[in-house]
Amino acid sequence: MKQQSPPKHWLPHWPDVTDPRVLAALAAVPRHLFVPPQHRDEAYYDVPLPIGQGQTISQPYIVALMTQALRLGPNSRVLEIGTGSGYQAAILAQITRHVYSVETLPELARAAQERFRALNYPVEVKIGDGRQGWPEHAPYDAIIVTAAAADAPPALVAQLADGGRLVIPVGESIWDQVLWLIEHAGGRLTAQRLADVRFVPLVATESAGLEEDPALADIRRELDVLLNRW
Ligand code: SAH
Repeated sequence: MKQQSPPKHWLPHWPDVTDPRVLAALAAVPRHLFVPPQHRDEAYYDVPLPIGQGQTISQPYIVALMTQALRLGPNSRVLEIGTGSGYQAAILAQITRHVYSVETLPELARAAQERFRALNYPVEVKIGDGRQGWPEHAPYDAIIVTAAAADAPPALVAQLADGGRLVIPVGESIWDQVLWLIEHAGGRLTAQRLADVRFVPLVATESAGLEEDPALADIRRELDVLLNRW
């Protein structure tokens, strides 16, 4: 029979990850079932691994740090951009049943959907350009982007609920990416740097029609100011 559970006590000690829901989720999700067979032996090392199509499954520490920053509860509505292997979405689904995920590459999206079905994770997946978010299910309490954007997409901020959190790596090249926590509360945006990171790029696959909207142009200007301040 295929081993469905992670090894007991595999989690490293990360001093800055303390949220018990996040730690329980990482302890529970079988990461070896989200990586290609030739990398199964490495699934419980704290490293990123290739998942095909030039993409990677993130390092568990970064998954934990990002998930913690989302401050999820059992009723949170959460959107992920960049489904990839589906591992991050499965972690989210351990915490809340309202998980939506967008992926541009159809093969990865389909493979992730199969894993969600096999492992019973209620994650809804859409194939498309995640820079536009997923307006039909908005607003979200939390949005997590698992690929690095040169600029934070304003459509994602527009789909945050009041009090919502967006966790996103931003940077032009892999050498200068910063992981940001952007919060939207009472009509104001605030931003906090969380870590220096390295992610694959968030690619632009659809023309940015939605971004013509003047409300989005305003958000874009506000984000430019926030993320360029040191
Ligand atoms: N969260 C994933 C990590 C995926 S790597 C995991 O747990 O395995 C980043 C993913 O973002 C890749 O699968 C890539 O195809 C996807 N991606 C890149 N640009 C995108 C875009 N504009 N919209 C949606 N997905 C995108």
